[in-house]
Amino acid sequence: MAKKENKYEGYGLATQAIHTGTDYDEGTGAVRRPLHMANSFKLPDDLSQVNYSSTDLLMYSRNGNPNQHWLEEKVAALHGAGDAIVLASGVAALHALFWTLLKTGDRVVYPKVSYMAVYRLFHELFNRKFGVETVMVDMTDLDEVRKAITPGTRLVHIETPDNPTNGVTDIEAVVKIAHENGALVSVDNTFASPYNQKPLQLGADFAVEALTKFINGHGDAQGGAILSNDLETMDRIRYEAQVNVGSVISPFNAWQIFRGSVTFPLRMQRINESTQKIAEWLESRENVTFVSYPGLPSNPGHDLAKRQMKNGYGGVISFGVNTDDKTVERFCAALKVVTFAVSLGHDESLIFPQPSYDERIDLYPEKFRKGFIRFSVGLEDPEDIIADLDQALKSVGL
Ligand SMILES: *Cc1c(COP(=O)(O)O)cnc(C)c1O
Repeated sequence: MAKKENKYEGYGLATQAIHTGTDYDEGTGAVRRPLHMANSFKLPDDLSQVNYSSTDLLMYSRNGNPNQHWLEEKVAALHGAGDAIVLASGVAALHALFWTLLKTGDRVVYPKVSYMAVYRLFHELFNRKFGVETVMVDMTDLDEVRKAITPGTRLVHIETPDNPTNGVTDIEAVVKIAHENGALVSVDNTFASPYNQKPLQLGADFAVEALTKFINGHGDAQGGAILSNDLETMDRIRYEAQVNVGSVISPFNAWQIFRGSVTFPLRMQRINESTQKIAEWLESRENVTFVSYPGLPSNPGHDLAKRQMKNGYGGVISFGVNTDDKTVERFCAALKVVTFAVSLGHDESLIFPQPSYDERIDLYPEKFRKGFIRFSVGLEDPEDIIADLDQALKSVGL
């Protein structure tokens, strides 16, 4: 596919979020483009024009559908990227990228702390099934990164801030080491979102977003995106992973995420502000043993985050309380405004404990191994969120 058209290039992010990929419906003049729930499209009379592996021609919705393509224009604009591929979930996007780039004998370097599916793909699947050499490092420690990225390394995958500990990795520094050794770099940007961080502008070759989270922002649809300026590789990903593996997004989900993304910059501005306020409050609260949020000066990644995150530090706080797993559960259940559920980046605040029996707990820095909670701040009034956290902490004697 050609570079994504962005008629609003150069405008502010809010303007682009509203107008890019949006158009009048030609048939009716409706000010919104329609939802096309069709899995097949009328073929041209002359079949010699049809390339059955193409994702340009609308033919069959697994090869590409209009709602997917309009969302791709929008997400590319949010990242200032040349191209975007939107797939069925964040994990489908990560898998599509790894599946296309890696083959037997290749070496991939990935972080100790990352989204669970990345851990599974590299710790258990790509290595055992396909003979890919997978090397886990503390990505926040550049000396360790330097030792792990040997010449011939194919890919270095970063996640920053990382899920669930909020560790911050220096994208530009890792890109430099990787590129000197001929390796490509992908960045999972879900925690930061493109409102705060644009990995391609920091030199990364690929960025990945779980659209399920902040970009959709309403907790009602699943989707993922790959962003890049390498148009040729993006077409390979479409062909190898979308058409032939089949991780295509439903037009309905693409339509919902498109709708949610229109208010993404506005929501993210509010979420940055509320999260900073709540992180500061938590840090001052007794019985809170630590607060990991890149916006706090106490955070080891704060100065770095100030450089690479432009508008704020995102909507997730990782914090600890001085108690056992059972009491942490009781605290989560006692919340009235905040919802006790997995996921993040919704309109409502979500809280999820990371119990001490989690199989990866030993990979996390020491302080995260007891009473650790991941908290995604929503769009409620921050005073109500703080009051809710306070009453629930008190209700379990904290
Ligand atoms: C949620 C998440 C994903 C996966 O997204 P899904 O849509 O759930 O597949 C990937 N990376 C990070 C950092 C996430 O938080």
